[in-house]
Amino acid sequence: MIREIIKDQFLLCRKSSDATVDDLYIIDDLKDTMNAYQESCVGMAANMINELKRIIAVKENDDILVLINPVIIKTAGHYYETEEGCLCHEGTQKTKRYEKIKVQYHDDKFKMKIKTFSGLTAQIIQHEIDHCNGILI
Ligand SMILES: [Zn+2]
Repeated sequence: MIREIIKDQFLLCRKSSDATVDDLYIIDDLKDTMNAYQESCVGMAANMINELKRIIAVKENDDILVLINPVIIKTAGHYYETEEGCLCHEGTQKTKRYEKIKVQYHDDKFKMKIKTFSGLTAQIIQHEIDHCNGILI
């Protein structure tokens, strides 16, 4: 089901809590909502659709990758300055991101995984993890 995108800064600044297997139903709504905004959206965190759980969805090629309870366990490469936009507010903002990140997470079947991401995918994951922590760029 396509859900409404939360734009209220007060609501978006709340921290999300860890997701459990009981929260997997959120994934479909997150994907549906992301697909509805596919022209302007490369990633989405569950709190953007008013679910305060640490679940993020990230566009990778033509697929949507779901990461549950993602934790960055290692960073590498440049720590560079970039500009990012967000569905939750107008315009773009300057921020700093790591070029490479190693992430531990559960996949959409709640299987534990560890994977290294780089480039744009790494950047999107860092943006969405910020959302889980109530941080808006
Ligand atoms: Zn955002």
